[in-house]
Amino acid sequence: MNPNLDRQPVHQWALHHLSNADLHCHSRVSDGTLQPEELAARAKANGVELWALTDHDEVGGQQRALEAAQAQGLAYLTGVEISVSFAGRVVHIVGLGFDHHNEALIQGLRATRGGREPRAREMAAGLAAVGIPGAFEGALQYVGNPELISRTHFARFLVEAGHCSDISEVFRRFLTEGKPGYVEHRWAGLGDAVRWLREAGGMAVIAHPARYGFTPTEEYALFTEFIAHGGRGVEVVTGSHTAAEAAKYTETALEFGLLASRGSDFHSPDESRIDLGRLDALSGRLQPIWLELADRVHPPQ
Ligand code: AMP
Ligand code: MN
Ligand code: MN
Ligand code: MN
Repeated sequence: MNPNLDRQPVHQWALHHLSNADLHCHSRVSDGTLQPEELAARAKANGVELWALTDHDEVGGQQRALEAAQAQGLAYLTGVEISVSFAGRVVHIVGLGFDHHNEALIQGLRATRGGREPRAREMAAGLAAVGIPGAFEGALQYVGNPELISRTHFARFLVEAGHCSDISEVFRRFLTEGKPGYVEHRWAGLGDAVRWLREAGGMAVIAHPARYGFTPTEEYALFTEFIAHGGRGVEVVTGSHTAAEAAKYTETALEFGLLASRGSDFHSPDESRIDLGRLDALSGRLQPIWLELADRVHPPQ
């Protein structure tokens, strides 16, 4: 089946006048708390015009999100957020505008999800050793997709069970490097993730670069290797960046000739600092990635 056949010609829909694109958020298909349909309605209510659902390492929610976007009169780009290992850290690569039926992409993502359950059992063992029993079963209660048990689900359990007062305290005390519930994991390679996305007709974007804590040298290596693999964009305005960080990565995007993306990284009405669509604009000096993805946008019906 060719997913392009039922598309309206793109000129009917004014990408150039678009002011509110939100190209990063999560549903219950990964570690968000809302269903794709609920996110589409919330995006619409918050004034989003072009939306992408970017669940972690999984495209199983894309068809629902696309249909929900069309029911709401939203333009839609397919999306995913892939966890990759780079220089001993985890880096997130957002993919946009790919064919969500592409077999190589689906298989690659399935392989990267494969290690999550044993990792989660090890995390639970680490927590049990410091007096927090039952964390695996506890986290599972919050999981929408059993293949995608993540630190976020453990964090929700630890808050609910009264071990911490909020999610960020859980990460600080238990779920980050050197802490009892942290287990390193081997994710996809940077080059693999970028290639899967390109070969499925989409573009790869470095997600929230300020979050990684890289030295300038490591960050330079990340950007140059990403571009060498055919990566095209960087998130500049995101719920994970301060205004100063957005200003910094505006310069980085220009320096490396990367397209710019914008996305809230919304996970939950109770947890997320930035709601869907409630973001600053990209600097007018930047080239928005959606203009380069015009032929991949599903226009509103
Ligand atoms: P995992 O893929 O299992 O390593 O979990 C990563 C997820 O944890 C991210 O996608 C975020 O949703 C969440 N996360 C990571 N660090 C933090 C933090 N400091 N505070 C809140 N959530 C976090
Ligand atoms: Mn997440
Ligand atoms: Mn991320
Ligand atoms: Mn995210």
